[in-house]
Amino acid sequence: MSDPIDAGRDVGDISLTASLRQGRLKVDTYVDESLAAFQDWSEETATEMLCNGAAPRVLTVKPSRRQEGFMGADWLWWWLDPDGVCFGMLSQAKRLHGTPGAREIDFLYRNKNGRQIDLLMHTARDFGVPAVYTLYYGLPDQRADLRCREHSQACERCRQASVSVLTALEADEIALQPRHAAAQAFVQCTPLEQLPFHDNRSRALYGYLLADGSLSPALKQFLQQPQRGARAAARVLIDRVAFERQLQFSGVSSDTVDVGSEPLFDTLPLDRGHFREPYFQHILRGLRAAPPAYVMDALVSGSLPSWVRQSVAGVVIART
Ligand SMILES: [Zn+2]
Repeated sequence: MSDPIDAGRDVGDISLTASLRQGRLKVDTYVDESLAAFQDWSEETATEMLCNGAAPRVLTVKPSRRQEGFMGADWLWWWLDPDGVCFGMLSQAKRLHGTPGAREIDFLYRNKNGRQIDLLMHTARDFGVPAVYTLYYGLPDQRADLRCREHSQACERCRQASVSVLTALEADEIALQPRHAAAQAFVQCTPLEQLPFHDNRSRALYGYLLADGSLSPALKQFLQQPQRGARAAARVLIDRVAFERQLQFSGVSSDTVDVGSEPLFDTLPLDRGHFREPYFQHILRGLRAAPPAYVMDALVSGSLPSWVRQSVAGVVIART
């Protein structure tokens, strides 16, 4: 019998990088055509275009009809490696609005149920994964005012930023200055197609924790080695948050916590800085030694249990 993780692994020859790029280009095309036809576009349709473009290596499972009591508009992503190691993240889609000098991404949005970021963080906790935003920045030539930190002429990173990922922990901080939120998020986010690769350039980030002994040997090794696939996606996000943590003036906590239930690292530092939750726990709780049962079911049968259908718009499985 074939391994269930290989179920549906008829992904052809196309690499994950090429698939994610195709997804991003499809979003760019959609934005371009929608602006021409309607002078507008939506993050909901952008997400569908992304998933369509990245198929079949990226598999999307969503209920054919929204059932009664449906609450969530968020997508649950799982990066799944051939050895079963996987990384989940709950994603809320947001798009860039406004014109140069008056850019806007609304991280403060609230509806009758409360602040959107609070609901996102809450649902992410239920699923045992980090909360992130998938940011749609629109066409590169229409946002030349937004630039990355290491910008160059014909900057590939900025072109790829049409579809980017930002942790909710960072968005929560960025939201405190709404006028600068779009530009600051642009600097801090990571293009989606760069997520499953980590070249370890940022390894000096953890000096403040290496000194106090709150990193287990396995975690220390993870933070010092280049990573691929699910581990890389987790590493990119924890590096981003740790970078911001270093800029926060508060003492480092050397306490640790036992995470429980199939995490790749079972003991994590409890350091929090100014973030609303201990950030190692928030990000790395999504990195597991084996996928949750509903991910395996989604791969094998293309269906989701009702508790998952009630909480998210769909599940996206990126096979690395
Ligand atoms: Zn750039």
